[in-house]
Amino acid sequence: MKKLLISFSIGCLLLPLSAYAAKINVIAAENFYGDIAQQIGGHTVQVTSVLSNPDQDPHLFETDPSTAIALNHAQVVIFNGINYDPWIQRILSVTDNPYRVTIQVSQLLHKKNNANPHIWYNPATMSLLAMKLDKVFSNIAPDNKQLYQKNLSKFINSMASLNKTIVQIRNQYQNTPVSATEPVANDLCQLIGFKIHDLDFQLAIMNNTEPSFSAVAQFHENLQKHRVKILLYNKQASSPIAQEMMHTAKKYGIPVIGVTETEPAGETYQNWMLTQINMIKKALHN
Ligand SMILES: [Zn+2]
Repeated sequence: MKKLLISFSIGCLLLPLSAYAAKINVIAAENFYGDIAQQIGGHTVQVTSVLSNPDQDPHLFETDPSTAIALNHAQVVIFNGINYDPWIQRILSVTDNPYRVTIQVSQLLHKKNNANPHIWYNPATMSLLAMKLDKVFSNIAPDNKQLYQKNLSKFINSMASLNKTIVQIRNQYQNTPVSATEPVANDLCQLIGFKIHDLDFQLAIMNNTEPSFSAVAQFHENLQKHRVKILLYNKQASSPIAQEMMHTAKKYGIPVIGVTETEPAGETYQNWMLTQINMIKKALHN
């Protein structure tokens, strides 16, 4: 009887220890990267995303001391790079942590510094990140290797319907001229094969500067003369001049599609992208 009690109590002790094993502390600068970390890491990771406010322009984000403290304790840090989140690079450069794994997503794609920073609008970016996270998490927690591989397969499979929809829309609408108030979804537009207009205007809005008079005039003309079939409007960087373009497009009957920089709360990356692609498809179909 005594022996039985001892083994029972040891059994009880062992269970909670494995059940409450420390989670991998992940900090993502942007919530779409945090989402991928969560999908690959599952219950073994604790993910915090810094940028997730849909009413905020990420290009204007400034950090606070609590982010710096959190980053100091992070085991894995994910950020975009190529001038999208310079605040995180500033913090990382002054907080030394030899055990921290830092993933700069733009480096996985070998992007140059002057590239369009909105690289998460290309689904291939997220698959590359997912593969990287499988390796990083497996190194930190080798016991969970199988789980990470299973989650990676699940993720790659779930991207199939997204990629299929892109191929479908490309087959139907390749070379369609489109415009945008900011190059948020341009990587996606390029995959589809759209002809993207008003790039000078888009870059000015992205950099929070005033677009030139000629860029504004050209944009107006493209809308007025129906030289573009849809307008992609960045809901998170609504400067007065970008809003003016949205109203002009509506006035001339050009469909306006609202896109966002960050992932809406409660969404998955796959659903978020699929919803936006389907909105584009619907607008072109009408
Ligand atoms: Zn942007």
